[in-house]
Amino acid sequence: KVLFLQGGGFTQFAMIPMNLMINRSAGYIVTGQWSKKAAGEAKIFGTVHELASSADKNFSYIPELGDLNIPEDLDYVYICQNETVHGTTIKTLPNTKGKTLVSDISSMFLSEPLDVTKYGLLFGGVQKNVGPAGVVIVIVREDLIRDDVLPFTPTMMKYKTHADNKSLFNTPPCYGIYICGLVFKWLLKLGGVNAIHRINQAKAKLLYDYLDGSKLFHGTVEKKDRSLMNVPFVTGSRELDAEFVNAATQAGLKNIKGHRSVGGMRASLYNAMPVEGVAKLVDFMAEFEKAHIS
Ligand SMILES: *Cc1c(COP(=O)(O)O)cnc(C)c1O
Repeated sequence: KVLFLQGGGFTQFAMIPMNLMINRSAGYIVTGQWSKKAAGEAKIFGTVHELASSADKNFSYIPELGDLNIPEDLDYVYICQNETVHGTTIKTLPNTKGKTLVSDISSMFLSEPLDVTKYGLLFGGVQKNVGPAGVVIVIVREDLIRDDVLPFTPTMMKYKTHADNKSLFNTPPCYGIYICGLVFKWLLKLGGVNAIHRINQAKAKLLYDYLDGSKLFHGTVEKKDRSLMNVPFVTGSRELDAEFVNAATQAGLKNIKGHRSVGGMRASLYNAMPVEGVAKLVDFMAEFEKAHIS
């Protein structure tokens, strides 16, 4: 079922355990700020096993996920497939040894093709690639939609309520969903997810190639784990980072400052960002580099 719900991505951090954590035990793979938040929320409802983590290197890589120690009683294994703040993507899904895989795809929604049959549940707040903040889309396998959820789960928080009512149980956020519809039509006209994927690859290549050749800037993520959508980078000097952010803002390249937990800069190359926007950023960075490296 594909459900159009509200409450943004964060509400799913609670809805998932309420509906799926029947044995009160779940495994979380912690690769950045968003999976950490989700694991924290799940602890309200039961035992959270941290199956793997990249906290040791400030979430700059994806740990090995091929042979995890999976406790027998786990209700599901949770990942955040694209960590928005840290700029990593899980490119090879974890071996869950038969357990249900749950994935937060908020910041990579419709940016590249995904095989939905590999997951029990996928969800994304739509505000990165699809529509206005507040709407969240949940794609869930029908056998996971159940009545015997955790006790005290409110009616609005049950997937079954929304699945049984075709996402029209209460007044839906019509305007937000309408805008999502317009974006779906735009994407189909462009050639669909495969077409936008090619564009996103070209955009990311432009920036990563420049970063790899730069003597001033460098990316903060291990190459094999780099995100197509979120590109954090630094100069190595806080003062120079601040100077770059200011100069970029003045040149019309807005919101380039990185999240405070990583520092430096972050370029988000979501579906709506055209190739020309990335080219402009790279040109500006090259000019800045020339002026600061003699
Ligand atoms: C943006 C985002 C969310 C959702 O945030 P809300 O503000 O609650 O909609 C969740 N997970 C990830 C990975 C995100 O990037």
